[in-house]
Amino acid sequence: MEPTPAARALATEAVHAGRDDLAALGVHAAPLDLSTTYPSYDSRAEAARLDRFAATGELPDGPPVYGRLDNPTVARFEQALARLEGTEDAVAFASGMAALTAAVLVRVGDGLRHVVAVRPLYGCSDHLLDGGLLGTEVTWTDPAGIEEALRPDTGLVLVETPANPTLRELDLRAIAHSCGTVPLLADNTFATPVLQRPHESGARLVLHSATKYLGGHGDVLGGVVACDAEYARKLRQVRFETGGVLHPLAGYLLLRGLATLPVRVAAQSATAAELARRLAADPRVVRVHYPRLGGAMVAFEVAGDPHEVIAGVRLVTPAVSLGSVDSLIQHPGSISHRVVGEAGRSAGGISDRLLRMSVGLEDVEDLWRDLDAALSGRGRPTGSARETPERAYGPAAP
Ligand SMILES: *Cc1c(COP(=O)(O)O)cnc(C)c1O
Repeated sequence: MEPTPAARALATEAVHAGRDDLAALGVHAAPLDLSTTYPSYDSRAEAARLDRFAATGELPDGPPVYGRLDNPTVARFEQALARLEGTEDAVAFASGMAALTAAVLVRVGDGLRHVVAVRPLYGCSDHLLDGGLLGTEVTWTDPAGIEEALRPDTGLVLVETPANPTLRELDLRAIAHSCGTVPLLADNTFATPVLQRPHESGARLVLHSATKYLGGHGDVLGGVVACDAEYARKLRQVRFETGGVLHPLAGYLLLRGLATLPVRVAAQSATAAELARRLAADPRVVRVHYPRLGGAMVAFEVAGDPHEVIAGVRLVTPAVSLGSVDSLIQHPGSISHRVVGEAGRSAGGISDRLLRMSVGLEDVEDLWRDLDAALSGRGRPTGSARETPERAYGPAAP
């Protein structure tokens, strides 16, 4: 990685990080390198480069050898995200779940199979740890119980703040202190580095589902772990072995997404805060969850049937996922946290009446009109377009 220039503001880094060499290259947009392999007439040198990577996790100088090892376009995104999170390095993956898997496998590979985690977490993260697929054993605890839950074989402590889907906020500094020498992984997907930089509070690993705010347009799946150089080397070795690489085109789109991240998060958060205020004053809503930190996610528990609200929106898209320029709403009990099961949801404080909304860049009055109609049961589309969507793509029946 090149040395960090004199401290620049986040908005400046968002636009320039990972692109500092472009003018010298004589280009304006980042080059997109789609190569899967890189020719070399010197196979002795390739052997030495691969040996060094296997021993140390250091990326070879020069071309990457093979696309599963490294990619120059993806590396630009990694470098930019590391700058935004204030870490030495970052390693990108095919999705947030691939990133979390690699972060866990680094420790499981060292025999450290025990994970301490605080609920709620994103549903699939909860399931990945709890299900034991990666050989982990998890202790669920409250922040106050972390220190006591640590064991000699504890490899990671895992938290989300604000958490998906209840937006529960945690004191990262206090938690990092309780972790001692055990790495703390903080999922920063909801806050983004615009609102919170967990590394500054002592988190060794900062995870993102880049699918959400970093990409920001609902058209890229990706994940990334921002961390120190030592952990990054291990993550790259795991990524090479297990293959959860980010596609270069996705890396290109994520780098482009970062440029507008600060303005998107600021605008979307202002609208979300206003919607949270109106929902809190509304008798059809029994509880609103909105972080003190701010952000563009709002969760609320309705007095009536949450499924009717989902069925009633028209401008807001009823779909899982979040962080896009357009607003989405979903019912965690049915979708994002279905896989956790009823007991896990209840342990995480996820009510069956809870709806989770990702607020986009639309005008606040238009969004409110849509929510207001859906809450009143006036928003249900005539006909059943949503229940039986047209087949938009995919091969026609023969
Ligand atoms: C979506 C999400 C993930 C998983 O990311 P994918 O890109 O869908 O694999 C992890 N953590 C949080 C908080 C998420 O919202």
